Amino acid sequence: MHEYSLAQSLLESLRAYLREHPVPGRIRKVHVRKGELLVLSEWALSEAWRILAEGTELSGSELVLENVPVRVRCPSCGYEGEARYLREEGWHMAVPLLSCPQCGAPVEIREGRDLAIVGLTTEEVP
Ligand SMILES: [Zn+2]
Repeated sequence: MHEYSLAQSLLESLRAYLREHPVPGRIRKVHVRKGELLVLSEWALSEAWRILAEGTELSGSELVLENVPVRVRCPSCGYEGEARYLREEGWHMAVPLLSCPQCGAPVEIREGRDLAIVGLTTEEVP
Protein backbone atom coordinates (compact mmCIF):
# COMPACT_ATOMS: atom_id res chain seq x y z
CA MET A 1 0.00 0.00 0.00
CA HIS A 2 2.04 2.94 -1.20
CA GLU A 3 -0.33 5.58 0.21
CA TYR A 4 0.93 4.64 3.65
CA SER A 5 4.58 5.25 2.80
CA LEU A 6 3.68 8.45 0.92
CA ALA A 7 1.81 9.72 3.98
CA GLN A 8 4.72 8.74 6.18
CA SER A 9 7.28 10.64 4.13
CA LEU A 10 5.00 13.70 3.92
CA LEU A 11 4.54 13.62 7.66
CA GLU A 12 8.24 13.19 8.36
CA SER A 13 9.28 16.03 6.10
CA LEU A 14 6.59 18.32 7.49
CA ARG A 15 7.57 17.56 11.08
CA ALA A 16 11.22 18.21 10.27
CA TYR A 17 10.20 21.53 8.70
CA LEU A 18 8.10 22.48 11.73
CA ARG A 19 11.00 21.84 14.08
CA GLU A 20 12.95 24.49 12.16
CA HIS A 21 10.00 26.82 11.51
CA PRO A 22 7.40 26.47 14.24
CA VAL A 23 3.96 27.89 13.42
CA PRO A 24 1.66 29.50 15.97
CA GLY A 25 -1.65 27.79 16.58
CA ARG A 26 -2.91 24.38 15.72
CA ILE A 27 -2.57 22.99 12.21
CA ARG A 28 -5.97 22.13 10.77
CA LYS A 29 -5.21 21.55 7.12
CA VAL A 30 -2.16 20.56 5.16
CA HIS A 31 -2.38 21.57 1.51
CA VAL A 32 -0.66 19.19 -0.84
CA ARG A 33 -0.16 19.34 -4.61
CA LYS A 34 -0.51 15.99 -6.28
CA GLY A 35 0.85 15.36 -9.72
CA GLU A 36 -1.55 13.80 -12.19
CA LEU A 37 0.86 10.98 -12.96
CA LEU A 38 0.85 9.83 -9.37
CA VAL A 39 -1.87 7.26 -9.07
CA LEU A 40 -3.19 6.86 -5.58
CA SER A 41 -6.33 6.58 -3.55
CA GLU A 42 -7.02 9.92 -1.89
CA TRP A 43 -9.09 8.12 0.67
CA ALA A 44 -6.27 5.74 1.59
CA LEU A 45 -3.80 8.61 1.77
CA SER A 46 -6.06 10.64 4.09
CA GLU A 47 -6.68 7.61 6.27
CA ALA A 48 -2.95 6.86 6.51
CA TRP A 49 -2.31 10.50 7.38
CA ARG A 50 -4.93 10.47 10.12
CA ILE A 51 -3.45 7.33 11.69
CA LEU A 52 0.18 8.40 11.40
CA ALA A 53 -0.45 11.94 12.67
CA GLU A 54 -2.06 10.69 15.85
CA GLY A 55 0.04 11.58 18.87
CA THR A 56 2.05 14.17 16.95
CA GLU A 57 1.61 17.95 16.70
CA LEU A 58 -0.31 17.24 13.49
CA SER A 59 -2.91 15.10 15.14
CA GLY A 60 -6.40 15.98 13.90
CA SER A 61 -5.18 17.76 10.79
CA GLU A 62 -6.47 16.83 7.38
CA LEU A 63 -4.84 16.63 4.00
CA VAL A 64 -6.26 18.78 1.22
CA LEU A 65 -5.15 17.55 -2.18
CA GLU A 66 -4.92 19.70 -5.27
CA ASN A 67 -4.27 18.02 -8.60
CA VAL A 68 -1.60 19.62 -10.74
CA PRO A 69 -1.12 18.98 -14.44
CA VAL A 70 1.94 17.28 -15.80
CA ARG A 71 4.70 19.62 -16.96
CA VAL A 72 7.36 18.44 -19.34
CA ARG A 73 10.58 19.66 -20.90
CA CYS A 74 11.88 18.65 -24.30
CA PRO A 75 15.63 18.15 -24.57
CA SER A 76 15.49 18.38 -28.38
CA CYS A 77 13.74 21.71 -28.99
CA GLY A 78 13.62 23.25 -25.53
CA TYR A 79 9.84 23.22 -25.16
CA GLU A 80 8.75 23.53 -21.55
CA GLY A 81 5.17 23.51 -20.42
CA GLU A 82 2.13 21.35 -19.97
CA ALA A 83 2.05 17.95 -21.54
CA ARG A 84 -0.35 17.18 -24.34
CA TYR A 85 -3.23 15.00 -23.30
CA LEU A 86 -4.91 12.18 -25.04
CA ARG A 87 -8.65 12.23 -24.47
CA GLU A 88 -11.01 9.70 -25.87
CA GLU A 89 -14.73 9.64 -25.57
CA GLY A 90 -15.80 7.33 -22.78
CA TRP A 91 -12.51 7.54 -20.90
CA HIS A 92 -12.70 8.63 -17.32
CA MET A 93 -9.47 10.54 -17.49
CA ALA A 94 -7.13 12.18 -19.93
CA VAL A 95 -3.77 10.49 -20.36
CA PRO A 96 -0.73 12.73 -20.63
CA LEU A 97 1.42 12.04 -23.68
CA LEU A 98 5.10 11.98 -22.93
CA SER A 99 6.16 13.29 -26.30
CA CYS A 100 6.87 16.89 -27.21
CA PRO A 101 3.86 18.92 -28.49
CA GLN A 102 6.24 20.82 -30.78
CA CYS A 103 8.60 18.25 -32.26
CA GLY A 104 7.40 14.86 -31.03
CA ALA A 105 10.63 13.88 -29.28
CA PRO A 106 10.44 12.10 -25.91
CA VAL A 107 10.23 14.59 -23.05
CA GLU A 108 11.41 14.71 -19.47
CA ILE A 109 8.82 15.04 -16.75
CA ARG A 110 9.40 18.19 -14.68
CA GLU A 111 6.35 18.08 -12.47
CA GLY A 112 3.40 15.79 -12.04
CA ARG A 113 4.55 12.60 -10.42
CA ASP A 114 4.95 13.46 -6.78
CA LEU A 115 3.42 15.10 -3.77
CA ALA A 116 4.51 18.46 -2.41
CA ILE A 117 3.29 20.31 0.64
CA VAL A 118 2.38 23.83 -0.41
CA GLY A 119 0.68 25.35 2.60
CA LEU A 120 -0.82 25.01 6.03
CA THR A 121 -4.06 26.26 7.50
CA THR A 122 -3.77 26.95 11.19
CA GLU A 123 -6.21 27.83 13.86
CA GLU A 124 -5.38 30.36 16.57
CA VAL A 125 -5.26 28.97 20.05
CA PRO A 126 -7.37 31.31 22.18
ZN1 LIG B 1 10.51 19.21 -28.71
